[in-house]
Amino acid sequence: MQTEQLFADIPCIDSKESDSFQSNITEYKPKTLLGVLRPQNLKQVKELIKTANNKQVKIYPYSSGMNWGQGSKLPLADESMLVDLSQMNRIIEINEKYKYVIIEAGVTQEQLSNALKNTCFKVPVTGSSAQTSVVGNILERGATGFNIRNSLLMGMEVVLGNGKTVRTGMWHFFKDDDSSENKFLTYSKGLGPDLNGLFAQSNFGIITKVILKLLPKKEGLILHAEATEKDLSSLVDILYDFNQTGITNGWNLITNKNDPRTAVNGQYKYAGEWIALTAIEGATPEITELLKKEALQKLKPVCHFIDFISTTTEQDKYNNPYFKILIDVYNGIPSNYSLETMAQMTGVNLNGNYSIDENKEMVGFSVALPAVPFDGSTVVKVNSVIKEISVRLNVHPFYNFGSLDSETFEGFYRVYFSRTDETAVRLAHEWNKEVHLTLENIGIFPYRTNIDRMDHYVNRKEDDFWNTIKDLKSVLDPNNIIAPGRYCMM
Ligand SMILES: Cc1cc2nc3c(=O)[nH]c(=O)nc-3n(C[C@H](O)[C@H](O)[C@H](O)COP(=O)(O)OP(=O)(O)OC[C@H]3O[C@@H](n4cnc5c(N)ncnc54)[C@H](O)[C@@H]3O)c2cc1C
Repeated sequence: MQTEQLFADIPCIDSKESDSFQSNITEYKPKTLLGVLRPQNLKQVKELIKTANNKQVKIYPYSSGMNWGQGSKLPLADESMLVDLSQMNRIIEINEKYKYVIIEAGVTQEQLSNALKNTCFKVPVTGSSAQTSVVGNILERGATGFNIRNSLLMGMEVVLGNGKTVRTGMWHFFKDDDSSENKFLTYSKGLGPDLNGLFAQSNFGIITKVILKLLPKKEGLILHAEATEKDLSSLVDILYDFNQTGITNGWNLITNKNDPRTAVNGQYKYAGEWIALTAIEGATPEITELLKKEALQKLKPVCHFIDFISTTTEQDKYNNPYFKILIDVYNGIPSNYSLETMAQMTGVNLNGNYSIDENKEMVGFSVALPAVPFDGSTVVKVNSVIKEISVRLNVHPFYNFGSLDSETFEGFYRVYFSRTDETAVRLAHEWNKEVHLTLENIGIFPYRTNIDRMDHYVNRKEDDFWNTIKDLKSVLDPNNIIAPGRYCMM
């Protein structure tokens, strides 16, 4: 009997047709897939977990499967059945009284942003595609623009590998038909142990829904400052100080100017030029004006260009399309701009087709995501490590830093490569491995990692952290059916 026939009631793509699901923009080696299940609701997720346990079938769940750079839809284990949750895409409730939204796993950034259009609320968006899921990104603890989406996670509904369905935070105290007037779900810690953290970057269950706190839409100013490499360290320290003293809202992006999103006229070569972006959100226009003056005075000694962009400005004022996109990002509106500009690097026009895993003309994407301290001298030191490796391997790196919290940046280090050139693919993978190993030597670890590097970080038998994760796994997913090896010892 074919494996997919075991899951008779659940829509499925069979193993022959599932080959295309192995394509991935990083050109990781394919894994043997048994097919793709497409559950439509919670009942079907419970059923599939039961069957997978009974028949000992490994499953790999994803929400939209666009985990580009980390493996896309590829599981760590061969002979896995993919579970594609993209059809579970209902927005269950927008509660304006207690300021939360409940969404299913497959809801995309675009869908959520559209649903909030006529409300006073927003949810921060990533720089990835508008069609990526909100839940998959939260489960990776991904990085978003102008605010930190992950801090808005208030509750999760999880079908565990052992078949139990758990709701975290305060959620388990309520029934679905309780009046929305009564449902106060915006206290994430709940009563007893706080389990929200347990189900992100783990493999204990399938997350079917989440509750996210909504942020108010606010007027603000986007601070755009430019400096050269010699002042990068001081610029980072000034921005840190702005966060600590409340001059800015706590979120920052620092990017090299030759990044595909900001490069002008195809100048992708690093020329030592940097752009910093953050937001000023005073309680009143007068306070915003004072904060702006303070920021200007402190930045002047290190920046040769400083601008303040109104988040309600007519976007046409800006010639560079990136600044129009930034205003959208500030307002919680996603786009496909990053993908389009990445494709443009080699003259490819995506023509609205964002299935970049399958499109071999699209440049390859190898990425390392270290957790970098928000400290000027360390930022410069990490850059120099990456530069040395890149020069030695003759690849061209790109650098970005986006806030993960008040103390930590996501270092977003990438190389782009031709996917049809075997040498280029090999070098990109070698670069990725070396970057991870070398950064570890200076005490810098990734905040999120890819399927090729996972083994190195998690299979550490002497580390009681990973041993405890393994113990939890044996209780929550005793047959090890869910994503074996993902953020957990094999
Ligand atoms: C140009 C470019 C820009 C990017 N910009 C950003 C950015 O700004 N910020 C950022 O964070 N990332 C960025 N990315 C990376 C990536 O595309 C996003 O993080 C994306 O949101 C992840 O894909 P997804 O939402 O489809 O998650 P998925 O692929 O669906 O899932 C991610 C992981 O979580 C697990 N998982 C997902 N859903 C479930 C579930 N329901 N139950 C159990 N496990 C689950 C999966 O097994 C998978 O390992 C970028 C990529 C590119 C190419």
